[in-house]
Amino acid sequence: MGENAMNFQELERKFLKITRILNRQQDKDRGIDLLGRFIKSRFGGEVLFYDFTADKSQAVVNKVSEEHQGSGTPLPIDRPIEDYNKPLWLKGKEEIDPYFGDSRRIFFMNRVFAMPIITRGEFNNLLVVYVTGEEEISLETQAFVRFAVKELVAFLSRIKNSNRFFEKMLFRMNYLENILLFQNQESDLEKIMKEIVENIPKAIGMKKCTIALLDKKKEYLLPYYSNFIDASKAEKYPMDKELIQDHTGILALEKKEPIIVYDAQKDSRCDPELARKLKVYSNVTVPIISLRGEALGVMYVDNGQYEIFTAEQIRFLKIIGGHIGLILSNLNYIDRLQSKVRTDGLTGLYNKESFQILYQEYVRSRQKTKGRFALLMMDIDNFKRINDTHGHPLGDRFLKKIAKTMEESVRDGDVVGRYGGEEFIILLKDTGRAGACRIAERIRKKIEEIRIREISTTISAGLAVFPEDSKYSGELIEVADRNLYRAKKAGKNQIFAEYIDKL
Ligand code: GH3
Ligand code: MG
Ligand code: MG
Repeated sequence: MGENAMNFQELERKFLKITRILNRQQDKDRGIDLLGRFIKSRFGGEVLFYDFTADKSQAVVNKVSEEHQGSGTPLPIDRPIEDYNKPLWLKGKEEIDPYFGDSRRIFFMNRVFAMPIITRGEFNNLLVVYVTGEEEISLETQAFVRFAVKELVAFLSRIKNSNRFFEKMLFRMNYLENILLFQNQESDLEKIMKEIVENIPKAIGMKKCTIALLDKKKEYLLPYYSNFIDASKAEKYPMDKELIQDHTGILALEKKEPIIVYDAQKDSRCDPELARKLKVYSNVTVPIISLRGEALGVMYVDNGQYEIFTAEQIRFLKIIGGHIGLILSNLNYIDRLQSKVRTDGLTGLYNKESFQILYQEYVRSRQKTKGRFALLMMDIDNFKRINDTHGHPLGDRFLKKIAKTMEESVRDGDVVGRYGGEEFIILLKDTGRAGACRIAERIRKKIEEIRIREISTTISAGLAVFPEDSKYSGELIEVADRNLYRAKKAGKNQIFAEYIDKL
């Protein structure tokens, strides 16, 4: 093999090197500049980069193989643009001038190798390697330049894409910022949340977003708003690694950094079952922190697929986490959050607010279909005494046991709620007065039989029946309440089920 023969291994190393260099670049000028200097240092020769103007009558010419390059002057091009759309290998004044006359005179070109660069189907640039002396531009150099142009094309379209991506992102961030800045009044909380979960994923090329907020005592995270699950039906996630398998929310708030998971269905920090249910593969959990550094909640973002997130995406999300924290710091969201919590922490029953929602809905449906149902209001007898004599924790155990007993005593569709501290409410669907009395009596008896450390208790109940006692949801509750009072008055541990107009 002669001296000029290509050393493929060496060439391959150079290819790889320049590919890596270009892959790391985010900036167009810098990428091209690095490529030019690489060619000069490894192959000799100078490198020019021609940027054709929009009308293709001239080109801005930059010498990219030098450390300090000025912004190039536009030079008229000597031939129709199509003539440059192929590799050109030119020697001496006669061959060079028809194509690059002005450039030859300015840069003292004596041998030229030029390659067109076509990005997105458009011929906008030319890469030119030249020498001023008599030496030839080797085949090796030409092979490398051909390869480098391919890489450059990929690089330029990536830059263009990412510019577009950032433009879009900036636009959407702006949009979001306007919403956040001008509407941060309490009444807009729902709207703001909706805008956030809908726009954040779009801004960074992702699809799914859920915001979960911490309750007042920071005991659990509650999905508050989501663009793909019904947050009003979501379970709350305890902030306790012993109680929950998905630790991403806890970790994000502990570290105050986004937690990035590649495979949520396998990662030990995640709950594989939950991930499968929600179709989460790769995801980011972003902490939402107040201005004072207080943990407020988290934002889960993902794309429904395996994905490596870019540093920019993560940075952006982290900033947005801070923005949301800022907004929430100004809003009294805790009370609303409370009403979004469907179940009561101690008993697992529906809380008052969620019972009300289900109840109102049911009453409306019955008003239309003329069905019937019963409402039971129950209150533990002398419960204060249990607390006072045996301590609050024992009281709690009774509350749990009683709640469980009630749930076990009713049918599947019936709704049991914890209406107050030691008050319960039960919606018995498709049930009349006689049936409701039987169920109430069964519950009363079972509760009477409960023993915790040899201690027992009783309950009283008041009944109301739709539509006989009232056709209206509020009035029905009043009737049940009045009847409960009568049961208490009559000596407790009993059910009062008649309709009496006045107390
Ligand atoms: P009555 O038979 O008239 O209903 O008497 P009572 O003692 O049950 O009624 P009262 O309203 O005077 O007291 C209710 C008590 O329930 C007061 C409060 O300490 C207790 N309580 C309310 N919520 C809880 C709770 O979550 N846990 C415990 N252990 N006790 C509770
Ligand atoms: Mg009470
Ligand atoms: Mg009581």
